[in-house]
Amino acid sequence: MPDITYRLPQERNLVTSLPGPRSSELATRRKRAVAAGVGSSAPVYAVDADGGVIVDVDGNSLIDLGSGIAVTSVGASNPQVAAAVAEQAAHLTHTCFMVTPYEGYIEVAERLNRLTPGDHEKRTVLFNSGAEAVENAVKIARLATGRQAVVAFDHAYHGRTNLTMALTAKSMPYKSNFGPFAPEIYRMPASYPYRDGLDGKVAAAEAIDRIEKQIGAGSLAAVIIEPIQGEGGFIVPARGFLPALADWCQANGVVFIADEIQTGFARTGSWFASNDEGIVPDLVTMAKGIAGGMPLAAVTGRADLLDAVHPGGLGGTYGGNPVACAAAIAALDYLESADLASRARHIEEIAKPMLRSLADETGVIGDIRGRGAMLAIEIVKPGTNEPDAVLTKEVATAVNAAGVVMLTCGTYGNIIRLLPPLVISDELLIEGLDVIGSVLKAKAGK
Ligand SMILES: *Cc1c(COP(=O)(O)O)cnc(C)c1O
Repeated sequence: MPDITYRLPQERNLVTSLPGPRSSELATRRKRAVAAGVGSSAPVYAVDADGGVIVDVDGNSLIDLGSGIAVTSVGASNPQVAAAVAEQAAHLTHTCFMVTPYEGYIEVAERLNRLTPGDHEKRTVLFNSGAEAVENAVKIARLATGRQAVVAFDHAYHGRTNLTMALTAKSMPYKSNFGPFAPEIYRMPASYPYRDGLDGKVAAAEAIDRIEKQIGAGSLAAVIIEPIQGEGGFIVPARGFLPALADWCQANGVVFIADEIQTGFARTGSWFASNDEGIVPDLVTMAKGIAGGMPLAAVTGRADLLDAVHPGGLGGTYGGNPVACAAAIAALDYLESADLASRARHIEEIAKPMLRSLADETGVIGDIRGRGAMLAIEIVKPGTNEPDAVLTKEVATAVNAAGVVMLTCGTYGNIIRLLPPLVISDELLIEGLDVIGSVLKAKAGK
């Protein structure tokens, strides 16, 4: 455990029932002002956060097992990040890198070129959101190869813009009635060991066979995949699946894009999830954990691919904003100096045995999976592998009401996922898991 000093007491402390009166007031205002299409998983409104806690407007202190969807790995008010943001904002908040460039952008690019897998010559371009990074990775792959088709997988999540909706697998809530979608996207079977029981090489061979029959390598610009699928259910592909796909791409001049937006920056116990199987993607998309909560995203990859694009072909008004870059540099420094990658592995070592005994006690956990601080349980009807989305939702609501911010996901809506800040204390993590455990036992009738 690195020596972390916290500003706020690291405790779960409920002074009202949830939501409290001030949160309820805000919910009423929100209903009249904010589009109904934006959902929130917890019913409370936040005012402060530090380490493993979020404090709401009523003074309740909640345990954070979500990190704002894998973003605040270094904490939501990391002192180094906060100082870097303040310092940069006091000088300039924006000039636009395409107008009057600045050093922070270059520094972030140098660091990402160094940190991402592979020691080949790399280049980086910065954006604001994960979806924007994915869009641009596809733009780059198409231009560089002169081909159009893109392969994405079952259970994939790549964002909510038009092209990334097309790449995302799940209809409700992400795509339903938002079409038509971008053309030349082909969906292939993924590796989902709990449900397909396939060896990684066999699963890859099936996907490759379908790619060759239905598209043809000569028409294929890129294959994009999350090394551990996030929104689709924290699905860890069987060993060998990713290397086989990457090798096939390399042999066929197809750009292999690893979408590391959720898995990146020490979340899974190494800098990137690709490191775990030694794969070296041609392009890597990054966002979420990159900048301690500031909006920043990146595409890093082979210099020949990125430099193939004509000057002016990539960019955006805010991409690589100087405040976001300053935050990223501070967050990357902290990830390294506090060795949060080992901290992520330590979180796995604490959580997995607790989840295993919970599985034995309740009989409703079909699978326990994930790596580092990206962990999940798959909730099923006892004695089957039939997803139980109703129980999952009930558990999530009750866990949130008990003062633990916890998220669900999955194609079948039956995954409870754990994404604690990497700076959470052992005690708080264990307490959060205990709350999930007692709720799950009660709801499962144990
Ligand atoms: C969150 C996510 C995205 C989209 O990122 P946004 O910043 O929400 O646009 C894309 N890919 C993966 C794997 C993600 O988890």
